Order: sequence, then C-alpha cells, then structure tokens
Amino acid sequence: MTQKLYEGKAKILYTTDNPEILLTHFKDDATAFNAQKKGQITRKGEINCAIATHLFEFLETQGIPTHFIAQTAPNQMQVAAVTIIPLEVVVRNIAAGSFVKRTGITSGTLLRYPLVEFFYKNDDLGDPLFTEDHIQLLELATPTQVIQLKQMAMIINQHLQKFFSDRHLTLVDFKLEFGTDQSGNILLADEISPDTCRLWDDLTTDPNQKIMDKDRFRQDLGNVADAYEEVLVRVMSQK
Ligand code: ADP
Ligand code: MG
Repeated sequence: MTQKLYEGKAKILYTTDNPEILLTHFKDDATAFNAQKKGQITRKGEINCAIATHLFEFLETQGIPTHFIAQTAPNQMQVAAVTIIPLEVVVRNIAAGSFVKRTGITSGTLLRYPLVEFFYKNDDLGDPLFTEDHIQLLELATPTQVIQLKQMAMIINQHLQKFFSDRHLTLVDFKLEFGTDQSGNILLADEISPDTCRLWDDLTTDPNQKIMDKDRFRQDLGNVADAYEEVLVRVMSQK
C-alpha cells in the first residue's frame, strides 16, 4: 500500500508499508523563480532519477551517507524517510545566479574558495538567505549540525567537482538538502540533478551553449531536454 504524502514542484513522495521507507516519483514538471515560471521538460523525471541514482551511489562509495536505497522504476526511487532540515545548503565554486546579484561579482568568476550558503527552505518567504544566527534563532538546526552540514557539503563538492570535471562538465554551484534519520544521523536527501546544479560544458566556449542545466529553462535558452539528456550520457560514462 502506498499513499501520497506530499506533492512538491519536482517530485511526489509516497509512503510505503515500512514507515522508514518512502518512494519519490520524479516529475517532468519544471518550475523557476519560486514557481512563477512553470513548464515541462521532456523525460526530465526519468533523466533526473537516473542521474540522482548514479550520483547518490557514487557518493555512498565515497563514504557519504545518503537517503538512497534503490531505483525502483525509471522515474522512481526508494529512499530512507528522514526529517528534512529546512535549509537549502548551496555550494558555489564560480559566481552565477543570485550570488552575482547579491555581490556584484561578475558571472563566471572563479571564487577563491568554495562558498557554502544557507537558505531557509520556505516558499512563502521566497527561500531567503540565512546566517547561522538566523538558523539558531529559528532553531532550524543546532550549531553542531550546522558545522556538520558545512563539512558534508564541502566534501560532497570535492567529490562532485572531480566527478563532473572527468566528464568535461564544470560544477559551478549546487543545492543540497539534508535530513535526520530515527537515530539523529544526518543523511544527504532530496536529489542531485541538472535541476539543482549549475553545470557548464567544458567542450564549448560559447557562453549560451555551455549551459547544461535548469538555467536553459529559466532563461528560455532552448534545447532544455537535449542538455539534460547529454548530462545523463556524461554522468553514465566511465569518464
Ligand atoms: P519542493 O517543491 O518542496 O522542492 P520537491 O518536488 O523537490 O519539493 O519534492 C521533494 C520534497 O520531499 C521536498 O520538500 C524535500 O525536502 C522532501 N524530501 C526529499 N527527500 C526526502 C526524504 N528522504 N524524506 C522525507 N522528505 C524528503
Ligand atoms: Mg525540491
């Protein structure tokens, strides 16, 4: 028996007979700018599920605990049920997106070191940037958990940067979500995909063609589904 638990913008969560296990169904729906822009990307559900599966399996081999259990259908994944920490943990290697607007640093600038940012996961508030003091005041995570989240995000960044660069993709920035299991362990949750990462193609210098992620949808650059398909091909390739 499965029951719909939650329908989000990109995925639907279902319960299973085991309270410790959930099913996530990846949708073709795409949203941007806090769901003000809506659309569909052909085969996105299957592509993102396959990419996320491969990346979770890869990160597990590198010692990162994740919620991933198994891929159970082309667009469906079995995961450990966790209590999501309501923070979007963003790691940036290169200036892009909202970071450019906030800092005035030119898009494409290599940052001197990877930057970890926290955003409060709250659509009604537009996912605002939070400092560690905001996180403590609202009791979203303990100080120890904040340190752990930062450390895990930095290590994941090292592994993913290498993984993607081996496949001629530059990992510009990405968003992670974490949750706690019954024992209080922090697991990497949600998804890692072209919806949640900025990926630039190293095999072209054309600034438009380089973009291989959801920015193609956000900025109406065209060939959105083709870019997602190509990321899948590269992710699945043995370098
Ligand atoms: P949203 O519109 O909130 O971004 P999504 O469409 O991405 O939602 O659906 C996934 C939802 O499920 C998110 O709110 C995410 O935090 C949550 N989630 C992801 N993994 C897990 C998990 N293992 N256990 C419980 N909730 C999860
Ligand atoms: Mg989401």
